[in-house]
Amino acid sequence: MSLFRSWRRKRILAKPFPEAWREILRRNLSWYHVLSPAEKGKLERDLSIFIAEKNWEGCAGQVINDEVMVTIAGQAAVLVLGWDDYLFERVKTILVYPASYRTPGGTRTSIEEDELVTVRLGEALHGGPIVLSWRDTLSGTRVARDGQNVVLHEFAHVLDMENGMIDGVPLLPSQHAEEAWSKLIHHELEDLRRQLDLRRQTLLSPYAATNVAEFFAVATESFFEEAPLFKEFKPELYRAFSEFYRQDPVERFDVHPHLHEHHPHLH
Ligand SMILES: [Zn+2]
Repeated sequence: MSLFRSWRRKRILAKPFPEAWREILRRNLSWYHVLSPAEKGKLERDLSIFIAEKNWEGCAGQVINDEVMVTIAGQAAVLVLGWDDYLFERVKTILVYPASYRTPGGTRTSIEEDELVTVRLGEALHGGPIVLSWRDTLSGTRVARDGQNVVLHEFAHVLDMENGMIDGVPLLPSQHAEEAWSKLIHHELEDLRRQLDLRRQTLLSPYAATNVAEFFAVATESFFEEAPLFKEFKPELYRAFSEFYRQDPVERFDVHPHLHEHHPHLH
């Protein structure tokens, strides 16, 4: 890290964390209350730096206020809770739209509600900004445990791009680990497509079957938001994600045993 960046980060962290921001986290980050005090501290530090270092731009009349920044940064910070010194440095700009938006053409990394009209909830552009719909950001984070979270999804794409390719394989410690990861992801993708062909109910949304990149992003949403189900039905994938993210999100669910509801058999 450059000396200037580390000096600037120290200055950012020298300020006390605003209580108003903590209030926003309590309100909008549904899993905030189950984090340990150490995790909350890490999340608050990362969030402060993230907010200060990114350019925030509202599009189509969207206002950028503390709630928008804290809610988005807080979720990005959950993704990196297990790591030190990584804050999506390649992402310089976050563009926020009020709701889902339309763009001409399509890219592989967009979530499309309908392929024909290309309505987007969010987007991660290679080497460019993250684009998010505020409405979908809010519903994704307030309604936890449904496996849908557009912020986790788009920032997972950023992790995927860290090795220079959008291939469902994030940066891993060795080539061997990357090969094992790629094999596992492809295997799981094929399995998902097979289950969908058989019209079975699957844990991951059908959108994950688009390609390996979408599989990784959708699986990341599910890993954090539906950890107990994910671990139960995809144990090998859970182990791989748990090692990669250096987090065991199932633990965040154990304090709420009532969340282990009855569920149909998933594939
Ligand atoms: Zn995507």
